[in-house]
Amino acid sequence: MEVTILGCSGGYPGPGQAASGYLLTINDKKVLIDCGSGVFSNLQLHVPLNGLDAILITHLHADHYSDLMVMRYGIDMNAKHGMVFKDVPIFAPRTPENVIHSLSSEWGYQIGYISDGTELPLFGAKAKFFRTNHPVECYGIRVEYEGKVFVYTSDCAVDSLLAGHLDDADLCIMDCGELEANRRSNMFHMTPQECYSCAKALRVKKTILSHLVPLYDREDVELEARACGEWNYELAQTNKTYRVE
Ligand SMILES: [Zn+2]
Ligand SMILES: [Zn+2]
Repeated sequence: MEVTILGCSGGYPGPGQAASGYLLTINDKKVLIDCGSGVFSNLQLHVPLNGLDAILITHLHADHYSDLMVMRYGIDMNAKHGMVFKDVPIFAPRTPENVIHSLSSEWGYQIGYISDGTELPLFGAKAKFFRTNHPVECYGIRVEYEGKVFVYTSDCAVDSLLAGHLDDADLCIMDCGELEANRRSNMFHMTPQECYSCAKALRVKKTILSHLVPLYDREDVELEARACGEWNYELAQTNKTYRVE
C-alpha cells in the first residue's frame, strides 16, 4: 500500500500547488481520496484519465471536491474521442444536500453515502470512516491492508474523536492547517503541536503534516513541528509517494 500526495494546500491552492488530494494504491488499484482544486491536473501525472478504480470524498468543502466538476469535462471530452471509461464507485457524505444534489443531478456522479463507522471493502483492504470535528459532515479514513495501517484525518479540529481511529497507524496524514502562533478560540484545524500530541498519544509511527494553509509560511510550520520534540514527521510534498510500511 502506498499513498501519493496530489495536493496538500489547505483552503485554497498556493502558487503552483493544489488543494487536498491523495492517491492511494492498494494491490495496483488506484483510489482517489479528495479532489480539491488542482488535484485533477496532478492526478494525470500518476494515472491515465481512465485509470481510477474508486473515489472517496471526505467532506463537501470545495477545497476537497471542486475538481470533480472539471474531471467531468475531462471524462466527457476523452470519451467522445474514444477513451473507454469504466464505472468508478464514488463515496461521499450525504450533506450538505445542495452540493450532493448538484454533483449527482448536474454533474452525473452516482454517489454512495458514507457515515460514521461505515466500513468499505477496498481491493483487499478494509476502509473505515470516522466522524471528525469540523463544521460540515466530515470523515477521516482508516485503511488496513496486510497488517499495515494508513489513516487520513481529513479536516479536523483536535479532540478526543481521533482516539480509537489513529491508533498504531504506520502512516497518518494529518490536518495541520493551523499554527500555535495564530491560536484562536475556535479553530477547525490542528496545529503542529496538536498533531504531535495526537501522534504521540496514539502511537502513530509516521506523520505527514498536510492541509498546509498558503497564508502561513511553510518554515513556520516546520519550526513549530520541530520544537515539539523527537517524532517521525514531515511536511507533505506534492507528488511525493510514501509507502505504508
Ligand atoms: Zn479543507
Ligand atoms: Zn473542510
